[in-house]
Amino acid sequence: MADRADVVIVGGGVIGTSIAFHLTRLGLTDVLLLERSQLASGSTGRSVGIVEATFGTDVNVALAKLGYEELSRFPEVTGYTADFHPRPYLETVGLERHRAYLERCINIGRRHGLRQRLLKPEEIVELFPELRVDDIAAGLVNEEAGFCDPHSVAHGYATAAKRMGARIRTNVPVERVLAERGEVVGVLTAGGNVRAPVVVNAAGPWCNDLNRSLGFELPVHLWQRQIFVTTPHPEIPRDRPIYIDLSGRFYFRQELDGGCVLGLVEDIAAKDLANPETDWQFKTKVVEAAVHRVPKLAETSIANAWSGIVTFTPDQLPVLGPVREAKGFYLANGMSGYGVMISPGVGLAIAEMIVRGDSRSVDVSALSYERFRSGTGARGAGLWLSQG
Ligand SMILES: Cc1cc2nc3c(=O)[nH]c(=O)nc-3n(C[C@H](O)[C@H](O)[C@H](O)COP(=O)(O)OP(=O)(O)OC[C@H]3O[C@@H](n4cnc5c(N)ncnc54)[C@H](O)[C@@H]3O)c2cc1C
Repeated sequence: MADRADVVIVGGGVIGTSIAFHLTRLGLTDVLLLERSQLASGSTGRSVGIVEATFGTDVNVALAKLGYEELSRFPEVTGYTADFHPRPYLETVGLERHRAYLERCINIGRRHGLRQRLLKPEEIVELFPELRVDDIAAGLVNEEAGFCDPHSVAHGYATAAKRMGARIRTNVPVERVLAERGEVVGVLTAGGNVRAPVVVNAAGPWCNDLNRSLGFELPVHLWQRQIFVTTPHPEIPRDRPIYIDLSGRFYFRQELDGGCVLGLVEDIAAKDLANPETDWQFKTKVVEAAVHRVPKLAETSIANAWSGIVTFTPDQLPVLGPVREAKGFYLANGMSGYGVMISPGVGLAIAEMIVRGDSRSVDVSALSYERFRSGTGARGAGLWLSQG
């Protein structure tokens, strides 16, 4: 076990590995990433890997746009594959009054150079003929989207960081963060202390285990999400858009063989963070939502299922940056269900804060932990609450 590093990163999911990669790319190479299990063994390995940049908040669009740009050309950036597959991204709302939310997304996206279009129901059917649209008021499409393999992303970032000098250690749980006189001095592991003037918390759902050692906790909810995958349907082509029904809280993307990955967003408190078990009772609800929206899915069966944990903040925005409790301690927590798509932007922002003192590529000052103390948190800004 190394006993010293310039930066220790705790957590080897997409966020920790992206931070390691971006630090080394900025020239800070004495980086030690400590992962208590295997890389991508937390939320990352359970994600469905959707990459898109449509959000109702500037900061998320900025982060997700960086995400799309990096993940869609990952081999050029890192030398490794993200197994990225381009697909259009379609989202719809059921109520006329929610059209305003889609218009807001389009206006915000325009400021960031996104090419999104508002769609009438008849235009939605052209894009996705199997979709039922009689209860849809409007839709939005963004052609610049796709899906990736989150395992590949974490491993690609980690391997590229290693190539540039970072050390990646798996099976090393960090027991606590060490601070003296208001400054971080390292971390405690079973193998002993590691001295470091900078420690990054990228521990995903376990973030508060580390934060508590410095005397504070983030206001996060840990929700368990269920995924079910159908067999392919011979009449549903394999390249249908990634689809989110904002009103029904239902989402869909296809595997390469045409099988349909189905998700239904319901906030169920997580019990087992390390090994969340599939809740087969939930299958009926997901299948109902799926068949309502894509009736042909009634002719498929469920071929695979898994579940995973998401870490939600009250305003569905991540928590990024330093905290006043200990100088040198940085948070990269609360990814609120979209951590894969923003992992490049988060990695770059945290790396810039550490190396240059501020994140000049993307302004994430609104995402500091301070917003919860001062009550200035942005209102419902993530994927699911933001329609108002
Ligand atoms: C079902 C599901 C579908 C999803 N779909 C999408 C999607 O389509 N697109 C998208 O962008 N996002 C999606 N997400 C969200 C995404 O998976 C997460 O936001 C993202 O993976 C968070 O990454 P992370 O690195 O912060 O956390 P994690 O991947 O959980 O990584 C944290 C790591 O820290 C390690 N760790 C924790 N404590 C310690 C410690 N004390 N010492 C050492 N190591 C420690 C853990 O073992 C873990 O490996 C989905 C999530 C789920 C569950």
